[in-house]
Amino acid sequence: MLQLYIPLNFLGVLYREIKQSLADMEKLFSLLDQHQDVADRPDAVVLQIPQQGGAEIRFEHVNFSYEEKRQILFDVNFTIPAGTTTAVVGHSGSGKSTLSRLLFRFYDIQSGVIRIAGHDVRDVRQSSVRSAIGIVPQDTVLFNDTIEYNIAYGRPGADKDEIIAVAKAAYIHDFIESLPDGYQTMVGERGLKLSGGEKQRVAIARTLLKNPSILIFDEATSALDSQAEQMIQAQLKEIAAGHTSLVIAHRLSTIADAQQILVMDKGRIIERGTHQELLARQGLYAQMWERQQSGASDGGEVADTADVV
Ligand code: ADP
Ligand code: MG
Repeated sequence: MLQLYIPLNFLGVLYREIKQSLADMEKLFSLLDQHQDVADRPDAVVLQIPQQGGAEIRFEHVNFSYEEKRQILFDVNFTIPAGTTTAVVGHSGSGKSTLSRLLFRFYDIQSGVIRIAGHDVRDVRQSSVRSAIGIVPQDTVLFNDTIEYNIAYGRPGADKDEIIAVAKAAYIHDFIESLPDGYQTMVGERGLKLSGGEKQRVAIARTLLKNPSILIFDEATSALDSQAEQMIQAQLKEIAAGHTSLVIAHRLSTIADAQQILVMDKGRIIERGTHQELLARQGLYAQMWERQQSGASDGGEVADTADVV
């Protein structure tokens, strides 16, 4: 019995190891594959953005589909003036995250133009676009490495003081210090598994370290409880000053003071304005706001408002 048990147990461990490695490889391939279809033009230039003030972002009559036959964005038009914050809200699947993927030029659009600082994103080097933009995504991928490495990835070569400063700003420093191996703790699939909220804080720290001209927060604090969210939001607002920011919002209360709010529905911008203007319109935004104020405001885990809360 014992003899049989040991090999089986060993096989179990081995099986789990193999499954995990396959999962890692899958993730790697999907990250690499996903965006190979877009190539630089031979004459593509380096996108130059002034250090201060950020860059203007414009979507002009953008139509987009991932696959033929199913259009995702319909005639999307908006401008984010340099150095200002625009928030995007709307139900799940309305096309919010697609906007950020297109800004990175992970895909080319079917018609229209996307401009950063006046340049069509198809005319500039992708590497320069990607280094100008920092994103805190909906789901953060951590590398199987130390937590320090995972933060420093935002700007390889950053020194320890800088890493600690951004970890503090993202309210994750104390948590890291409480771990037995501190900043050297291995995280990721094969290390310490961080919660959704902890991963988001690592992603925020990483982006702060990168300090790009353009910031995208894609429901960046959605996995945090509301107290932690409020603290980090205050921090993010300070950081956003002087940058051009696109904030895809989870809870409307976090974006009420954005200079511009876009409301998306089924791939179209159906309302736009400031918080006060949108409330006065009594449309979808006002409805969403009402619903969140009455009860859904604390946790955000309310099923029927899932992505808009
Ligand atoms: P949101 O962020 O508002 O929830 P998304 O921009 O992620 O919405 O998605 C908009 C629509 O595009 C959804 O219907 C989604 O299913 C579809 N979609 C997203 N990514 C892909 C993809 N890689 N291939 C095909 N369809 C996609
Ligand atoms: Mg999304």
